[in-house]
Amino acid sequence: MLADNLKVVQEKIEASLLARREAKQTGNKVTLVAVTKNHAPEVITEALSLGVECVGENRVQEAKHKKEVLPAGGKWHLIGHLQTNKVRQAVALFDLIESVDSERLLAAIDEEAARIGKVQDVLLQLNIAGEEQKSGFGREEYLAVLPKLDGYKNIRVRGLMVIAQACTDVEETRPVFAAGYRCFCRLQAERSGIDCLSMGMSNDYTVAIEEGANMVRVGTALFGARDYSLKF
Ligand SMILES: *Cc1c(COP(=O)(O)O)cnc(C)c1O
Repeated sequence: MLADNLKVVQEKIEASLLARREAKQTGNKVTLVAVTKNHAPEVITEALSLGVECVGENRVQEAKHKKEVLPAGGKWHLIGHLQTNKVRQAVALFDLIESVDSERLLAAIDEEAARIGKVQDVLLQLNIAGEEQKSGFGREEYLAVLPKLDGYKNIRVRGLMVIAQACTDVEETRPVFAAGYRCFCRLQAERSGIDCLSMGMSNDYTVAIEEGANMVRVGTALFGARDYSLKF
């Protein structure tokens, strides 16, 4: 079943790349992050065996458990909100922290990465839809943090992460993704090493790719409904 779902998702990714009306600064390749939260560890093994390279988890504890019981493999992305008291574990566990949403968190990650001699790759999560309850840098906060990024010597900012609002018509997400892409282009013009624009989930990844995403985070379309009875 996963193999079939994966094939469908990969075909839709390719079709969305072709549907782009103009060349994008994000290139013509999309990294699929398989979102395995609330699924058993074994689905990660299966996904990696099918050629998936990146897995996305939204909780530190759950990822830690899975990494402990699985053989080493894959690139691990944190995609959920990170509390500062979990930074130590997160820096130890994740190849890319996609959900950095405050200056306080940047400082904490930098400090921990320095302590263990790591340069931590991160994305800055932007709250473009402007939803109160969503995490992510608001516009003012984002503009304020940009000049300070070089001060974090043990952090490598690789790009941006955007979550669109939930909506009934997926076309409503398009302006949000287009705005994410404009922010990405500006950031890329200002800084070196900016190569990731993570936008799009099961419901909206095709639109996100059309608007310029080069990284998508897909769970349900690959693995089916999540099992919230699983405890980690
Ligand atoms: C859960 C989650 C996803 C995947 O959602 P699906 O709708 O299952 O594809 C993607 N991104 C983030 C930040 C998530 O928390």
